[in-house]
Amino acid sequence: MERKRILTGDRPTGKLHLGHYTGSLRKRVELQDAYECLFIIADLHMLTTQPGKEKIAQVANNARDIVLDYLAAGIDPEKSTIFVQSAVPETYELNLFFEMLVSVPRLERLPSLKEMARDANLEVMPFGLLGYPVLQAADILLPRAHLVPVGKDNEAHVELAREIAKRFNGLYGEIFPIPEVMTEGPALVGTDGEGKMSKSRGNAIFLSDDDATVSRRVMGMYTDPQRIRADMPGRVEDNPVFIYHDAFNPNAEEVADLKDHYRQGRVGDVEVKRRLVAAINEFLEPMRERRAQYGSRPGLVDDILIEGIRRVRGTARE
Ligand code: ATP
Ligand code: MG
Repeated sequence: MERKRILTGDRPTGKLHLGHYTGSLRKRVELQDAYECLFIIADLHMLTTQPGKEKIAQVANNARDIVLDYLAAGIDPEKSTIFVQSAVPETYELNLFFEMLVSVPRLERLPSLKEMARDANLEVMPFGLLGYPVLQAADILLPRAHLVPVGKDNEAHVELAREIAKRFNGLYGEIFPIPEVMTEGPALVGTDGEGKMSKSRGNAIFLSDDDATVSRRVMGMYTDPQRIRADMPGRVEDNPVFIYHDAFNPNAEEVADLKDHYRQGRVGDVEVKRRLVAAINEFLEPMRERRAQYGSRPGLVDDILIEGIRRVRGTARE
């Protein structure tokens, strides 16, 4: 039996952080053996909200950073395909055909688009942003993906891709499998405790951060604001420092002890954070090793992308 095909990816807007890891990368690493995985660096999607020349100039570097983040996290280029969206021109062609099969009101009803326009401070909806989910349908259907791991905010886009696939198949024959959503992990909170970790909010710990940077970011983390002295009972629930301990500290006994002592006012924030620095650095260490190994081979990242593009274009032409 042929393995089912997965398509998912990232926009090349910057380096990946711990939230990307817990939300999607960890799962992707596991999926590589059971599925044929395609990882798309979606640079055309970036254009929908950030079409400026300066942003475009950063794409090549950002794309290479993301590939290195993937490799560091454990994505294996021998097993999986990594490619750049804009380098597969068949995507633009399929996008045009799909545009004929979707109504404007259907797109206008998607809440995600309004949010994106608002986040990007756009007063009116660009035509391209309205068409973003259609382009995404082309990304998914072009390689005939069966499964699409996406965050909650993107599930409605996969639903649209399903509708387009059904419409297309109904008109022209059974061409596309109907893709299914694969739900990603919940969002990881940022170091400021205010909503999810996000690179544009300055509340992220990046997978590429070194020891000293992790230490600085963790020591500056938001904790229980009510607790002004170490001998006061502290709150563990909703406390980002403990959320991170749960997520990244493999020593469950240490975490349970720290929580107990924190609740009883028997351990200070500094100590809890120091242990977290150690845990996150240990967690990132294998990634740092892989990053150094892959990074030391000049041209490797470009070769991986070129090979990925070649493979996807082969499928696309069919
Ligand atoms: P920006 O600040 O530019 O919005 P970001 O850091 O929020 O960037 P995105 O590129 O918006 O990252 O996120 C891409 C995808 O990564 C999301 O759809 C989601 O699947 C995942 N992701 C991002 N941040 C988190 C997080 N904090 N926790 C879990 N998953 C996340
Ligand atoms: Mg975001």
